[in-house]
Order: sequence, then structure tokens, then C-alpha cells
Amino acid sequence: MNGIKAILFDIDDTLFASTQFSQTARANAINAMIDAGLQAKESDAKKELQSIIKELGSNSAKHFNELASRFKCKDKDHCIAAGVWAYHNTKSSISTYPRTASTLLELRESGFVVCAASEGKAIKQWDKLIRLGIDNMFDHVFVTNSKEGSSGVLFYRSISKILGLMPNNILMVGDNPKKDILTAKKAGFRTIRLKQGKYIKNSCTADISLKNICQIPKILQKPPKRHLLI
Ligand SMILES: [Mg+2]
Repeated sequence: MNGIKAILFDIDDTLFASTQFSQTARANAINAMIDAGLQAKESDAKKELQSIIKELGSNSAKHFNELASRFKCKDKDHCIAAGVWAYHNTKSSISTYPRTASTLLELRESGFVVCAASEGKAIKQWDKLIRLGIDNMFDHVFVTNSKEGSSGVLFYRSISKILGLMPNNILMVGDNPKKDILTAKKAGFRTIRLKQGKYIKNSCTADISLKNICQIPKILQKPPKRHLLI
């Protein structure tokens, strides 16, 4: 692949196993809530939590409050606090997929502009990068609150403008066939799909599909010199 000057990386399930982390963190939270007196079977609480997340959205801060109110418990506040503590405690153990940091550094040293680009809440996404120990490895971190679709195309177009680069000089790397690949392609970006996370079995129209982030430097022709940021 040649002509690439900047590389954008999605965060969740691209730089770290986000889906796996969420499942572990939620299971730990439920166990802690049951220990604190939530009157529920683990499997029932899991199902209920899943429907709460669907109803309130994954970024709501009220998941455990709602869960505590849907089951009997001796002391609701004790249960909520236990759930929140266990969830955040699990966060301290997150780590990147193997060879992620070394690959980001290698790409930067080769002269590419290296950025993160994802959907979500900016502070939450920064929190993940800090916990992963890679927050200072990016030239830019772009986060959009908008959902998929045409607004997603606008997100990629705005990145192209900020970087001062033509879309076909920018490579988007991600796990999500729709949001990371299809939408970035619509904006004229080149794309690499990493086959990992919850969409691993979905079909994808990416230019290239890879199993591991560390395969990226080998397939890119190095830029002649580091692109100067405005
Ligand atoms: Mg993702």
C-alpha cells in the first residue's frame, strides 16, 4: 500500500480487547452486587443488565442503579457502590493487544502521522488510552459523539481537513466493518480491517484484512519524510 501519510486507529477492539473487558467487568460487578446483598441469580442479573444497557445506552452511568432497583436488595446504595467499585477495579487491569505500542512507535518513527479516531465520549476514550499507557503516542486523538451514517462520513472528512491531507493519503484501521471501514471508505480513505473483537465473523469491504496490528508496517511503503502538521 503506497501514498499513505497518516494512519488512524479505532480504539475499542482495535487497540485493546474492549468487548472481552466489558464482559469481565460486568460479570465482576454483578458478583460484587450479589455479595453486597442483591437478591438475584447471577444469570438473571446478567440478562437484566444487558437489557438495561440496551435501554440506557452503553455510556450511561446509571446501569448499576437501575439493576439494583429491578431486584430486591437489603441496602440499594451498598449494592450500587459494590457494582461500581468492581467495574472500575477491573478497568485497572486493561492492556493493549500484543505489540500494539511497539507498532505505533515503529509507524511514527517511519514518518507516518499516527492518530486515534473513534466514536464515544471523549473523556472516556482518553481514559482508556491513559490506562493502556499509549495516550502520548498519538499526534491527534479524534472522538465523535455522532452515530454511524452520513454524520460518520463528515467525521472522517473533518479529520482529513484538520490533517491537511487528501482522503486517499489517510489509512483507517479498525475492527468494525461498518463504522470503521465502510464509512471511512465512503469518505475516500484507505482501510485495513483487524480481524478481532465482536465483528470477527462479519463480512467486510476493507482494502486489506489482517489478524494482527504488528503486520501493518510491513505492508506500508514508508513516506519520504514526516508529514508536517499544521
Ligand atoms: Mg472498534
